[in-house]
Amino acid sequence: MQTKIYQIDENSIKSAVKLFLSSDVVAFPTETVYGLGAVATDSTAVKKIYEIKGRPADNPLIAHVHKDYDLTKLVYIEQDYVEKLKKAFTPGPLTMVFRSKGVVCSEAVCGGQTLAVRIPSHTGCQNLLKAIDMPIVAPSANLSKHTSPVTAEHVYNDLNGKIQIILDGGKCSGGIESTVLDCTEKTPRILRAGLITKEMIEQVVGSCEIAKHLESDKVRSPGVKYKHYRPKCQTALYAETDIESVIKRYEAEQGLGKRAYIMCADYLKENFNGKNLLLLGNSQEQIASNLYDKLLEGEKKADIIIAIAMPDEKNVNLGIMNRMRKSCE
Ligand code: AMP
Ligand code: MG
Repeated sequence: MQTKIYQIDENSIKSAVKLFLSSDVVAFPTETVYGLGAVATDSTAVKKIYEIKGRPADNPLIAHVHKDYDLTKLVYIEQDYVEKLKKAFTPGPLTMVFRSKGVVCSEAVCGGQTLAVRIPSHTGCQNLLKAIDMPIVAPSANLSKHTSPVTAEHVYNDLNGKIQIILDGGKCSGGIESTVLDCTEKTPRILRAGLITKEMIEQVVGSCEIAKHLESDKVRSPGVKYKHYRPKCQTALYAETDIESVIKRYEAEQGLGKRAYIMCADYLKENFNGKNLLLLGNSQEQIASNLYDKLLEGEKKADIIIAIAMPDEKNVNLGIMNRMRKSCE
C-alpha cells in the first residue's frame, strides 16, 4: 500500500469519511499534533490503530468530536465547572475525562469506565468531524514511542505503507499533545500537562490539581522512566544553568566524529556561536510548537541531540519538560 497525502478539503474529507465508514483509519491534523483516527464505536477499526502504532493495549484513546456535538451522548457530565471549562477552552487543546456511557467500544477505552473527550479547534479537523458526525478516537499518528508528528510528512515517515491516506492541514500550531484533565471529581486534576495550564484552569474554575505521577516525574530517578516521544538518534539533557557542561559535551562528541546538535531556546544561542543548533524560539508557546519538529529535524541531521531544559516547570513549561525528559533524558 502506498500512502497518499491530500490537502484537507471537501474532497479529501469525503474520501476520509468513506474510509472511516468502512472500518479503516485516517491520519488527520489537529492544532496539537497529527492524529490517527478511527470511528470510536467500531472495534475493528480501533484495533487497527493499536496494531499500526504498536501501541500498548492498556493506553486508552481520546475521542474527538466537533464543537456542536452533544457530549452527553457519550459521557456523564457531573461537575458544574465543566461548563466554564468548555466555554473558556473549547474548541482547543483541552481533553476532559468523564464517566463513560459505554457508547464507545471497549478497545478504545481499554475496558475502562471513563472516556477522554476533546473538541479540536483546527478548522480542517472541525470540518472532518462535522462531516462524519461521530466520535473519532485518535492517538498521535506515529509509531509508538517515537516523537509525535506535527506535519503530514512526519506522519508519512512513520506510517507510509501502513495507512491509506494522510490529510494535510499544515504544521500543527500547538506542537504538544492536549492537556488531559480529569473532570470526574470536585476539583479538576491534570493527568497530562499541555498548553492549557494549571494556572489558566485555576483562573476559570478556582482550583486545579496536578496528578501525583506528573509531580514525581520531576524527581524520578534515571533508568526507571517510561521512554516516549523519542527521536531515533542519541540524546542528552542538561539544565539551563549548566552551559559549560553542554559545551564540553558538544566538543567531546564532535571530537569522537559524531554530529552533535544543541537544542535550546533562542535566547541561549549566544553561548554557542559557530555550533550546530536546533533553535526552539523564545516564548513557552513557541518552544512547545517547535519541540517535536526540531527533534524530528534533529534525528535526520544529528548523531546526538544535546537538549537544554526549561528554567522552571510552571505554565506551559510543565508540559514541555514532561516531553523533554521522556524524549531526551
Ligand atoms: P495519545 O493519544 O497518544 O496522546 O495518548 C492519549 C492520552 O490520553 C494518554 O496519556 C492516555 O492515558 C490519556 N487518556 C485517554 N483516555 C483516558 C481516560 N479515559 N482516562 C485517563 N486518561 C486517558
Ligand atoms: Mg502519542
